[in-house]
Parts: sequence; C-alpha cells; structure tokens
Amino acid sequence: MNPTQTSATDPQGSLAARTVALLGRVPDGLLIDGVWRPAEGDRTFTVSDPATGLPLVRIADASPRDALDALASADRAFPAWARVAPRERAELLRAAFEELQRRRDEFALLMTLEMGKPLQESFGEVAYGGEFLRWFSEEAVRIQGRYGITPEGTGRVVVSQHPVGPCYLITPWNFPLAMATRKIAPALAAGCTVVVKPASLTPLTTSLFAQVLLDVGVPAGVVNVVPSTKSGPVSAAILDDPRVRKLSFTGSTPVGRDLLARAAPGVLRTSMELGGNAPFLVFADADLDAAVAGALTAKFRNIGQACTAANRFFVHASLVEEFTARVTEAVAAFETGAGTQPGVTIGPLIDSRAVAKSEELVADAVARGATVRTGGHAVEGPGSFFEATVLADVPADAALMREEIFGPVLAITTFESEDEAVRLANDTEYGLVSYVYTRDLARAQRMIERLATGMMGLNVGVVSNAAAPFGGWKESGLGREGGPEGIREYLQTKYTLTPDPFA
Ligand code: NAD
Repeated sequence: MNPTQTSATDPQGSLAARTVALLGRVPDGLLIDGVWRPAEGDRTFTVSDPATGLPLVRIADASPRDALDALASADRAFPAWARVAPRERAELLRAAFEELQRRRDEFALLMTLEMGKPLQESFGEVAYGGEFLRWFSEEAVRIQGRYGITPEGTGRVVVSQHPVGPCYLITPWNFPLAMATRKIAPALAAGCTVVVKPASLTPLTTSLFAQVLLDVGVPAGVVNVVPSTKSGPVSAAILDDPRVRKLSFTGSTPVGRDLLARAAPGVLRTSMELGGNAPFLVFADADLDAAVAGALTAKFRNIGQACTAANRFFVHASLVEEFTARVTEAVAAFETGAGTQPGVTIGPLIDSRAVAKSEELVADAVARGATVRTGGHAVEGPGSFFEATVLADVPADAALMREEIFGPVLAITTFESEDEAVRLANDTEYGLVSYVYTRDLARAQRMIERLATGMMGLNVGVVSNAAAPFGGWKESGLGREGGPEGIREYLQTKYTLTPDPFA
C-alpha cells in the first residue's frame, strides 16, 4: 500500500505512520569507510513496493568508481580486522543477533514493503536470517588447524587457517535479510572484510542491517554496501581488481556462470548459490497429510519465489487424484493481497516480469495438455499479483518442468515405479534440493543415495537451517552456506613444514 494511505484494516493509519517513520530511518547512501555517502554524481534510484507499484524511497546508485572506493575501504580495514580476537568478532556478531531480534518488527515490515512477502513470513526470515549471526558467532572461536608428524618422522606438519581477504558478496531480492546474513556473518567470523551489493529491487533491508552492524561496534570499513542498478559494470570493476580475493554470489545460474568467468582471471575463491528445479516425490506409502502440508510449504513459501521451491511434483499414480484434490482445496482458500494485510498468504510477485513469466509458463503447460485445477491467472493491478495455481496432468515437455517457475504455480505429474521417479527427478541440470515423502525406511535411504541434489527434505517441506550446509550439486552451485562448512568458504589453508625438533 502507499505509505501515506490508510486501509480498511488499519483505520488509524498506524501502518502508514510506522512505514513513513521506518523508511526515514533506512540509510539512503553507500556505506564506505564506515560513513554513508552519496554516489558519484549524486545518482539515485527508486525502490518500489510490489504490492502497489508505488515508490517507497530513492537511494544512492553506486558507480564502478564508487565500487572501487568500497573495495579500497575493505582492503584497508582487512589487516586490523583479521587480527581482532575471534572472541571479540564473535561478540560483535552476537550483539548484532540480539539487536536484530530486538528490532524484528522494523525488519519484518521493511522486507514486506520492498519484497512483498506476507508479514508473518518476514518475521520468519528475521528469525532464520538472525540465526546465521548466532551460529557464526559460535563458529568464530572454533577455527582450528592441526599439528602432525610426517610418516618418515623427519618433519612436523602444521596446518593453519587464515581469512581469505576482502570479499565481494552479491545477494538476490527474494530473501533480503537472510541472503545477506548468510554471507556477511561467516565472512566476518573468519576475519574477512566485505563489499556487499544487494539486489537493486530490495536493497533497503541490507542497508538497515549494515547500520545495525555499525551500531553494535563493527569497525569502519569492515562492511561496505554498494546498492546499484549497474550490477554488471560495478561487479566487473571489483572482480578485475587484484585486491578482492573472494566472490560469493546468490542468484540465477546464467548470471552465476558469467561471474565465474569474470572471477577466473584473478583465480578468486568463489561460492555460488544458484538456481534450482526441485522435485517433490510422493510415494505410494507416504503419509498423505504430511505430504500435502509439506507440498504447500515447499511450493508457496515466499510466494513460490525461493531457489528451494518445489518446482515439479511427482506423485505415485495410486495417490495422485487424492493428493491433487487436497492441495487444490487448500490452495483455493489462500488469500491474495498486500503482505502487510492480516490473513494474506499470497503476496505480490516481485515485479510485472515475474507475473508475465508465470502466465507464460501456465499457458504453455495448458497448451501441451495440463489442466488448471485452481487459479491460473494474473490478478489485475495495482501491484504484481498472480493467483495461487494448481496444474494437474502436466506433460514432461512443458517448459515449467525444465525452468524455475519462481511463482505460485504447483505443477503435478505422476509416476509408477521408484526407478521412474528417480529418473524423472534427476532429469535436470539443476541439483539444489529434493523432497521425498515415504514411510519406508529402506526407500528413504535409497533416495539419499540416488537423488542428485545437495540437500534433501525427507518428510519435511523446508530444509533451510543455519546449522546445516546449504548448497547445490550440478549447475545449482559451488560451496556451502551455513553449518561448520559455511565458515570454511572464507578461510584459506596454510601448511608449514618444520624439521624434526629432536634431530
Ligand atoms: P539474478 O541472478 O538476476 O540476480 C542476483 C544478484 O545478481 C542481484 O544482486 C543482481 O543485481 C545481480 N546481478 C544481476 N546481473 C548481474 C551481472 N551481470 N553481474 C553481476 N551481478 C549481477 O537473480 P535474482 O532474480 O535476484 O534471484 C533469483 C535467482 O536466485 C533464482 O534463480 C534463485 O533460484 C536464485 N537463488 C538461489 C539461492 C540459493 O541459495 N541457491 C537462494 C536464493 C535465490
């Protein structure tokens, strides 16, 4: 909604007043050397609310030269930050975790305003995103090496871990807080400094979070933020500069592939969290109640705009009709509207291009023989809404079986045998996550071994957890975020050989 309007459910205009006050607190500059400053030439761009299409605020639009200033700041701050005691780094991250929880109302509202997800999901993201700060505050003090004797006994092997250096972090728009904390927290815990480029569609949450880091005492230059509409030139400037030592990117596979090529000349460490095309398998022995509940979460969380969103539902032929009827009944009852309004489960998609994409994918599937059980259409504006949709009898050649849907469209097809299910599930260049519903333990174990994905939800519809290694196989990415693995992405190993001290 327009921040200056009131609504039927908010007759006193308290939401409008809170919105105006909140937007007034979001830093509107670039964060470089611990100071918010304007972009070169005072350039700015507009951030809009996808629920209304109306502008929220204008913020600084970094140029390639600004990006190099940010990198210079990260480079200057690096030696001192790398020497800060791990316990001190840990306590700063822990303080940021506490502060984020204290200000959860503000962060949740800001995410809903700039990205569109329903407010209760934004609260969920504050909790999830915050956990990376808590987890990596605990990991910062557990960076360990080893000491050993060579097999010949003539030397001693010392293995130590060191921060990789200034890092460039690029985040997508779909989880504005969690995608930032999932990178910034392990980088800082490891002793690295960072330049963050948030998605230009949703930069506000990152800026407000960076201010929290300054407020709790993270030193100037350790975290730099460069919102920009010129992602390509800004990224090229940084990646071509020898001062940057690591690139961590979350976004689409095509952009990730380009960035890997950009990172090659400098032989940068890279972490890539890319696209997905998750299969959701419901076997004949599944607990159908659990499978239906899991399907709704795995598909419609974040309005279907998650890399982990279930993209293809393969349901055993014996259950497919009942499964389809039950998900259709639930989906038909979903309420679509602005994420700030109570009771809404389906907020707007990020922009009108996303709506057009859902429309095209549904039309293509229907033209090839799929049937629409509920939904199927864009909702007239203002705002970029698409109805929550269930498609049945989706044929294998439908475009949405190969492409990420990234919208609220649940596409169901069927299978007869376990071998067929596995073949269909693995028939994609992506390998981020799979979901399996079965009560047969041996089958579940076979799925762990046979499904070619970096993550698997076994009788659960969401896998994300700060303590677990999030990441994909095949063209879904490189490296892991979260878990003990997450901090290793920001550390490099040194092996030192010493002589036999007794020789
Ligand atoms: P995107 O690739 O368009 O953009 C991601 C980020 O890269 C944004 O900050 C964008 O501004 C920037 N960018 C775009 N073009 C660039 C270029 N040429 N050079 C440098 N930076 C560039 O992706 P998106 O639409 O923001 O996000 C959706 C995609 O992200 C989906 O494919 C989704 O699966 C993926 N994703 C993956 C994960 C994961 O953990 N695997 C998590 C969330 C989203």
